[in-house]
Amino acid sequence: MNVPVVEMDGDEMTRVIWKMIKEMLLEPYIDLKTEYYDLGLKNRDETDDQITVDAAEATKKYGVAVKCATITPNGQRMEEYDLKEMWKSPNGTIRAILDGTVFRSPIIVEGINPFVRTWKKPITIARHAYGDVYKDVEYRVEGPGKAEMVFTSADGEENRQTILDFQGKGVMLGMHNLDRSIESFARACFNYALDEKQDLWFSTKDTISKQYDHAFKDIFQEIYEAEYEQKFQEAEIEYFYTLIDDAVARVIRSEGGMVWACKNYDGDVMSDMVATAFGSLAMMTSVLASPEGYYEFEAAHGTVTRHYYRHLKGEETSTNSMATLFAWTGALKKRGEIDGIDELIEFADKLEQASIKTIEQGTMTKDLAQLSELADKNIVNTEEFLKAVKQSLETHV
Ligand code: NAP
Ligand code: MG
Repeated sequence: MNVPVVEMDGDEMTRVIWKMIKEMLLEPYIDLKTEYYDLGLKNRDETDDQITVDAAEATKKYGVAVKCATITPNGQRMEEYDLKEMWKSPNGTIRAILDGTVFRSPIIVEGINPFVRTWKKPITIARHAYGDVYKDVEYRVEGPGKAEMVFTSADGEENRQTILDFQGKGVMLGMHNLDRSIESFARACFNYALDEKQDLWFSTKDTISKQYDHAFKDIFQEIYEAEYEQKFQEAEIEYFYTLIDDAVARVIRSEGGMVWACKNYDGDVMSDMVATAFGSLAMMTSVLASPEGYYEFEAAHGTVTRHYYRHLKGEETSTNSMATLFAWTGALKKRGEIDGIDELIEFADKLEQASIKTIEQGTMTKDLAQLSELADKNIVNTEEFLKAVKQSLETHV
């Protein structure tokens, strides 16, 4: 490797796993070159969270990053870590700097069958991560009165619409989105679908929301026709728009294998549903892809706090390292693709195969043992699982 991968270390159980993966499965086999940023909560506090900004900027410089799960502080963490401030979610900060879209997809292994019988291939959810109800203004109406929506243009012209003449108590909200954000969401989705050679589905409620949701539909369509139609034809993949209700029904009946672009709220809800239906959050990978072609890979789950507290007490843990391992292999493959290093891609593929084979041959952590339909299961602890992957890697390299 000549160009480094940006390495963002994190917190708790995933930080423990992070080190094991590097020492056991990466460093002995490849010339691993990373630029290290410690996003552990202690260091974020010490650097006034500058480290998170630096890591995101480095991702823009080198193009590929891999991130360990990190604590998003709340009141209880303020005390636990004696924090100066309740620092914002690192993922939120990084996403804002890279202007990226999050793509989540499941790792599929034999023996762990999706709850939906027809699903054979992964379904990737792309969630628009800006605006709508997540950046709204809300108002609790306490009694009769008139609610209006007013837009005052920069040159002073007023546009006024009545929302409702309230006769009694009620609720209201105002929300927004930006063409610029929808456009970069659309491009990130079209690019990702091309990369993965999978159909892209997009859904909104444009029949009801004739301005708001319709703008999403139109922007996607315009960008598709202007920039991607030909590339999609060449790749023999399809762009398919449909109403959100229809999309939900079709996804359930499908065999999977598509990228499903969702508005912010739809993506929030659907990604949890799809993750659960595929079996386990511990088997979900996540990549933040920016329209400029920067990538940040991570596991979809958090720092697995409950296991970490047990680990601190010296008790055995059986934490699943698959999603964190796939964050690493995803980043290495992308580095390999961008820099044209075939050996790196090959190694990352082998490592993925070795870990999948390990589970398919019956060796797995506790969370998967509860789901697996294999007859013979060997339930192992956190470290034993990685050792088994290493053994599988060595017998097949
Ligand atoms: P979590 O870390 O995802 O864990 C929730 C539960 O899911 C665990 O207690 C465990 O269940 C199970 N689980 C998740 N990942 C697992 C794995 N790899 N192997 C086995 N079991 C796994 O979510 P959380 O407890 O809500 O959050 C913990 C911390 O993570 C919080 O501080 C939060 O801010 C942070 N977080 C970070 C990210 C991120 O960086 N992307 C995302 C989400 C949350 P059992 O205990 O029943 O075994
Ligand atoms: Mg959610």
